[in-house]
Amino acid sequence: MTLARKRHAVYGNDDTGNDYEDTPSPAKARRVDIPATIDNSDPSGSDYDSDNDSEIISTRIEGIYLDTVNRANLDFDFEHICSVSLSTNNVYACLVCGKYYQGRGKQTHAYLHSINDDHHVFVNLQTLKIYVLPDNYEVEERSLNDIKATIRPTFTSAQVERLDLACEHAQDLSGKPYLAGFVGLNRVKRNDYMNVVFQALAHVPPIRDTLLLLSDMDKQTPLVQRLCGLVRKIWHPKLFKAHASPHELVQEVGVRSKRRFRFDIPGDAFDFLTWLLNTLHIDLGGTRKRNSSVVYRTFQGELQITAQPLVDTKSRPNENDPIEIDSHNDSVKVSKTPFLTLSLDLPPKPLFTDDGGDDDDNDDRSTIPQVALVTLLQRYNGSTVAEWKGEARSYKLLTLPRYIICHIRRFSKSGLSIEKNPTVVNYPIRNVPFGDLLPKDTTVLPKDSSATYDLISNICHDGRPEQLPQNPNHHNDGLAQSAVYAADDSSSADGRYLVYTHNLADDKWYMMRDLQVEPIMPQMIFLSDSYIQIWRRNGC
Ligand SMILES: [Zn+2]
Repeated sequence: MTLARKRHAVYGNDDTGNDYEDTPSPAKARRVDIPATIDNSDPSGSDYDSDNDSEIISTRIEGIYLDTVNRANLDFDFEHICSVSLSTNNVYACLVCGKYYQGRGKQTHAYLHSINDDHHVFVNLQTLKIYVLPDNYEVEERSLNDIKATIRPTFTSAQVERLDLACEHAQDLSGKPYLAGFVGLNRVKRNDYMNVVFQALAHVPPIRDTLLLLSDMDKQTPLVQRLCGLVRKIWHPKLFKAHASPHELVQEVGVRSKRRFRFDIPGDAFDFLTWLLNTLHIDLGGTRKRNSSVVYRTFQGELQITAQPLVDTKSRPNENDPIEIDSHNDSVKVSKTPFLTLSLDLPPKPLFTDDGGDDDDNDDRSTIPQVALVTLLQRYNGSTVAEWKGEARSYKLLTLPRYIICHIRRFSKSGLSIEKNPTVVNYPIRNVPFGDLLPKDTTVLPKDSSATYDLISNICHDGRPEQLPQNPNHHNDGLAQSAVYAADDSSSADGRYLVYTHNLADDKWYMMRDLQVEPIMPQMIFLSDSYIQIWRRNGC
């Protein structure tokens, strides 16, 4: 309590519009009145003037107030709403009991709480200013800065630069050790499909660093503000509790997506990732141009599509022969298109596998077909032709992004049910030669052709897929393999997402499943069904 402390009474109208006392006398009188023992215990004697007297007394009272601050009661992860009025406007947290109340003027909920419960120190959750109530004056007290940092962690460039160089071993208030950057996320309800996406993006360095260092938060959209808030908590080395809650963020996702993505209903992690990347791109000022946002700078590559109506392709003596594009026919169309993700098709689900009715099916992986990732990637070699919407198509990669997102198409809709293809995908986790897919005759970015990539995040899905509700509440385009799932009451809803993430600082892998975080051996990654992988170009 010895550090700089500023005190000044604040009078006037509160943001809430509530009227309150506009003369200082009652507040001042109360401030002197409270601890009756102060005068008797004051060792400074009687030889001082009355102004100093009152100053010293109030300073001591303030000290007593500040000593009542109880960090163990504080949790700023909940949505910032007044516990009485449920308003989100002008909300203060009581630093004694942790509850949220609106306003600080006379007759506001915070004011009444200070009198009724004898709790006197409050922080404004928007401005982070700290006030003593009911006296209603601001306190600048450096010993409370850790509380402000917990509400809204901030990072310097120097701190961010160190994140991938050295591990920050931290402890929460209860002494529980944790590794900054590798903390669990609360499962609000069925938001595991969102949590894995938040964790994966929080570990893509250019995305992470942008969110940690973004300034002018008042000018950002609520989605960006809340995503920044979550990523900053994930990487904060001084958490009060060694986990973070995505509560506010998932609420905003529901609002922003017009309830397409809800935290109370299971969803598809890839659909959500795609939506989040596109929304972030726009919110961060992105346009159609390359490199116009950190999302495009990180994940955007370009591919060439060669398409021809199926009727014009080369005739096949046998139906099982591969389709071939007839390049002499004028109906061939060649176009270039940017991409943020590469979708990979698994071989068809074997017929002998039932529809997932038996849990044991998933345990015995030896009977499940396997395929190599490099085989799946041949879809993009420029010569593999596949049928798509009445066309024969081939895809050729032209440029590769710094970070490649691969989407392994496991889920497909069949009537009202979602089917999951259990095929095991095999891959090395280092030095995958994505560059080999680039055409060798190109003059565009020839250095890319030797590009190799390391896996940094692997979003997996364990167990059975959730099932469609009776009345899907939004349209579902089969191309994007969108999945609309049944609500929480589905008894078969035992599928769950998890994510494996690589920590560059200690070169170790971590498994994160909602609140659960565990260091793992790299080979553990292969025990779950890979669904979305993020690869990082070596040397970038
Ligand atoms: Zn309180």
